[in-house]
Amino acid sequence: MSSLFPALTGDPGEQAALRFGHRALTYAQLAAAAGAVGRQVRGKERVALWATPALETAVAAVGVLLAGVTAVPLNPRSGEQELGHILGDSAPALVLAAPGDELPAPLRGVPRADVDVHATGPVPDDRLAGDDDPALVVYTSGTTGPPKGAVIPRRAIAATLDALADAWQWTGADVLVQGLPLFHVHGLVLGILGPLRRGGSVRHLGRFGTEGVARELSTGATMFFGVPTMYHRIAEALPADRELAEALAGARLLVSGSAALPLHDHERITAATGRRVVERYGMTETLMNTSVRADGEPRAGTVGVPLPGVELRLVEEDGAPVAAYDGETVGEIQVRGPNLFTGYLNRPDATAAAFTEDGWFRTGDMAVRDPDGCVRIVGRKATDLIKSGGYKIGAGEIENALLDHPGVREAAVTGEPDADLGERIVAWIVPTDPGSPPGAEELAGHVARRLAPHKRPRTVRYLDALPRNDMGKIMKRALVHG
Ligand code: ATP
Ligand code: MG
Repeated sequence: MSSLFPALTGDPGEQAALRFGHRALTYAQLAAAAGAVGRQVRGKERVALWATPALETAVAAVGVLLAGVTAVPLNPRSGEQELGHILGDSAPALVLAAPGDELPAPLRGVPRADVDVHATGPVPDDRLAGDDDPALVVYTSGTTGPPKGAVIPRRAIAATLDALADAWQWTGADVLVQGLPLFHVHGLVLGILGPLRRGGSVRHLGRFGTEGVARELSTGATMFFGVPTMYHRIAEALPADRELAEALAGARLLVSGSAALPLHDHERITAATGRRVVERYGMTETLMNTSVRADGEPRAGTVGVPLPGVELRLVEEDGAPVAAYDGETVGEIQVRGPNLFTGYLNRPDATAAAFTEDGWFRTGDMAVRDPDGCVRIVGRKATDLIKSGGYKIGAGEIENALLDHPGVREAAVTGEPDADLGERIVAWIVPTDPGSPPGAEELAGHVARRLAPHKRPRTVRYLDALPRNDMGKIMKRALVHG
């Protein structure tokens, strides 16, 4: 196939490619450093990346991919047990790390190579690699069970990035600012490989902060990618921060993904900046499936339309596809297309279970389609669909209603077994003022007035914080099982 990064393998010039804090590389410098990594990994099957949010991780990823080797990004904040599981599963021949990084015990048995971002080597020619060759093994977030290693072929990366370029009018003139972790699809594939495939550049904040976003967007960055917890912090900071509001107002594109963006935050950002955040929906196994288009009319609460090349259908429990775009009929999202992974590493059982007989991937996410074709996610089949009193109720809209209450800072909704109702709606609340949290009846009334009486929480539990993983996703498993 053609190169994943034509701007690196063609005639790389002196234009900006990567910047992490005060450390930056041009395309020519990145090509040379990636060449040196290529030499370190040539001939290996799989290589692990100690994926700190640093320049070395980006250089290592590009070098490994150009060399036609498979990269396995590791979360440096993983516990030793999880790391042991991932290393045992993926069996990397080598781990690439930044000089000085201290690696934990499970990695001591794996040969180590340091990434030197100033080393030089001939740029590997990735055009020799095949479309179906594995580029990455990315472990899922582990929101619903132990992480599984999704094998992502080169074709999927090219297809998803080019589809996003179409949807977002994303070009080499764009400068992205982001502060995402680099061991997942969002930060690594969209946030690093994306700009490089377009021939544009990325400025990584190392650690997300609203000051960094404001600074970069007011000094040339055109786009910001973030997860909902980041937009929440932006929404909280905005009323008092004129510089942030002006910077966001001037951005070409603000994108949110990895979990649902609460309506309350969406609306507060629009009120303060006049801008709408574009939501896109994807997963480790499928890369990106849908997005609100940059040239479309963004509507809060939808993840937009299927990306070019992606086939998407909703399927009811009995297997019947939902034909209606009525904004009401809930079905599981199933997808097909060049963006899909090839399977879970060492898990033929889980891989087989994830596909239908006719080759559609079962996402496990439930959604409706609006009359204009936009997909609205209701929640995950496993944790967000509550069957109560004969109704099927999505946790998301109840969470949005609760977040609209001034006494609620964070909210998560789950179902619990109930003798009368089948399942009872339980609200987990982090109050704005822990000294005087809103009462259970007050919250039930608030939800019943906004949605419908049967959607009101029957039980309210108060917490200091919701359990979240490294992507800021709410771990409902931990809530339900303590
Ligand atoms: P695991 O599969 O290990 O349980 P995970 O599903 O959280 O973890 P990821 O592949 O990182 O791991 O996340 C994909 C999931 O994130 C999707 O299936 C969907 O539930 C959710 N998601 C992603 N983007 C959005 C969005 N814009 N709105 C709502 N949910 C989203
Ligand atoms: Mg998943």
